Amino acid sequence: MFKKILIANRGEIACRIIKTAKKLGIKTVAVYSDADLNSLHVEMADEAINIGPALVSASYLSIEKIICAAQESGAEAIHPGYGFLSENPKFPIALEKAGLIFIGPPVEAIKSMGDKITSKELAKKAGVSIVPGHMGLIKTVEEAVEVSMKIGYPVMIKASAGGGGKGMRVAWNDNEVKEGFYASKNEASNSFGDDRLFIEKYIVKPRHIEIQILGDSHNNLVHLGERECSIQRRNQKVIEEAPSTFIDKKTRKKMGEQACKLAKAVGYTSAGTVEFIVDKDKNFYFLEMNTRLQVEHPVTELITGIDLVEEMIKVAQGKKISFTQDDIKLNGWAIESRLYAEDPYRNFLPSIGRLTRYRPPNELTLPELVVRNDTGVTEGGEISIFYDPMIAKLCTWAKSRPEAIKLMQDSLDNFEIEGVGHNLPFLSAVMGHPRFLSGDITTAFIEEEYQEGFVGVRLEKKDLRLLCSAIASIHIFKEIRKSNISGRVNDKVEAVVDDWHVFVQGVQSRVKVVKSENDVLVQYADIETQKVNFKWSPGDVLVKFTINGEKYSLKVNNIIDGYRVRFRGADLKVQVKTSRQVQMSLVMLEKKEADTSKSLLCPMPGLVTSIDVSEGDEFEQGQTLCTIEAMKMENMLKAEKKGVVKTILARVNQSISVDQLIMEFE
Ligand code: ADP
Repeated sequence: MFKKILIANRGEIACRIIKTAKKLGIKTVAVYSDADLNSLHVEMADEAINIGPALVSASYLSIEKIICAAQESGAEAIHPGYGFLSENPKFPIALEKAGLIFIGPPVEAIKSMGDKITSKELAKKAGVSIVPGHMGLIKTVEEAVEVSMKIGYPVMIKASAGGGGKGMRVAWNDNEVKEGFYASKNEASNSFGDDRLFIEKYIVKPRHIEIQILGDSHNNLVHLGERECSIQRRNQKVIEEAPSTFIDKKTRKKMGEQACKLAKAVGYTSAGTVEFIVDKDKNFYFLEMNTRLQVEHPVTELITGIDLVEEMIKVAQGKKISFTQDDIKLNGWAIESRLYAEDPYRNFLPSIGRLTRYRPPNELTLPELVVRNDTGVTEGGEISIFYDPMIAKLCTWAKSRPEAIKLMQDSLDNFEIEGVGHNLPFLSAVMGHPRFLSGDITTAFIEEEYQEGFVGVRLEKKDLRLLCSAIASIHIFKEIRKSNISGRVNDKVEAVVDDWHVFVQGVQSRVKVVKSENDVLVQYADIETQKVNFKWSPGDVLVKFTINGEKYSLKVNNIIDGYRVRFRGADLKVQVKTSRQVQMSLVMLEKKEADTSKSLLCPMPGLVTSIDVSEGDEFEQGQTLCTIEAMKMENMLKAEKKGVVKTILARVNQSISVDQLIMEFE
């Protein structure tokens, strides 16, 4: 067994690899940039070596610095994690020269699978079904239009070097091909330093289903079943599960066999993933092969009981995989939710900032259920513009899908994140969405179910009442505390009002609230009474309630005129008033929201890369007004309706922040 390995990565994946190394008794070396001095992976590793400034090209992407760090620390092997150098063939080549072992597949496999066009050609030869398209590079916009017409709309323009959903555009007509051609080229060149494009048929509403494979250098190759990754925004995965509700035994076997065939054809060893898109008739088409550990690998680990990182480390030392295809049994159901620093209310645009509060739910490993949280952050840490905005991967496992989902709902309710915009409410919303619960999902799920964008969840009557009881109970508790504070007029318990009006989500409920020794009884006008039990101290945000015997976790913040309550994807303002306050509020004027319809505000922090209109120009609905680059993505800001440009305040190459005024309309 290796004595010491280096992890050429950061964040949650570095931490996750360190965990397995520790389990195997292997010492670990972390590398870190100046921005990561205080990060979790540095703290967890036995040693840590600084490899330079925050900019990835000068640190995490520097092969030279990483090799130096390995030599300095005496590490024998390097695990690349995902992203960064994991799929760069130059890295294992350089490692071999330096006498270091790469914990990953052979260079030739990385090379041939690293390019989407070459890999498709290889897949076709190996007898794997591929997406119909044009197997060549597209050089000019004219050629792009010609090829697209030949394939038949809709088509997808893709970067040959692509990854992470970047450099990818769907086009339904010639004009969209023209626009997409340049956008993809720019994105590909910015993200990969390689702007080669190709075009293939866009399969409408497919599922994204992938097969995990594992090979060793003794000709053993197995597949570990599928992962369903159809819940995506911007062609990037956000919720994954294993197995897939859509895949029957026969299809699983066929997909697994094709994945293994392709892996054999390139002499694959170590862990890898063959990605497919699957149409409604269960026809599946090869998309690409990822020659590394994937972000979503935990769901496979949870249903197979196999530690993929452990297998990768063993295979890298020339050991045999210790099980056969027949030994692999899929057990139960696992779900992964990716928590991102991104704003679901603004089309999932990335957000940055300090995690002023970071309290994940407790991890659990019981025979009937598992909660696993792979993370690389700690409270007080910073989500910066330099790296991926992922905060954590929350996974749950149970015997059945409904149980795994229920456990995920509870775990999300118990996850506290403050300080940065995050997608917890969105993840909760999906976990409660009837279509997700039914398993009838495709990659178009988010687009279809949130056509106007995500606006939060509207609670059903039953949940609304629970929330009403919970807040009424907290309120009475606070009122009693207030009346107990010494130095007040009577210096003894004042009579506390027990008759309240609770306002939430446009519903007004009149309740009588009675506190007994252990519980609070909340009585409604329709005579229903709910018995509430909870523990709360001022300053607590996460409050655990038992209401009529069932457990619920709510996030409750005091705000000026009430409470902000977050529960199951809903983010609501709750007000509790006395009858007198209700009467008074009837004669108060309502505050009006500012009118922003005449201005274009920047929805994300980024760089202005082009302004596509001039002052005085008339524009049509849907016309591109300007382009902002954020997190290496080109985001075109389009007109919501027809209008005329009055003044332009931003300029090209200017860095701008969220809500900064870009232009005003007449
Ligand atoms: P990347 O390597 O950038 O992640 P992929 O080729 O894996 O790109 O595709 C990412 C996602 O984009 C897929 O999961 C799928 O949802 C969508 N996609 C890719 N190609 C097609 C296609 N031809 N038709 C429909 N959807 C596609």
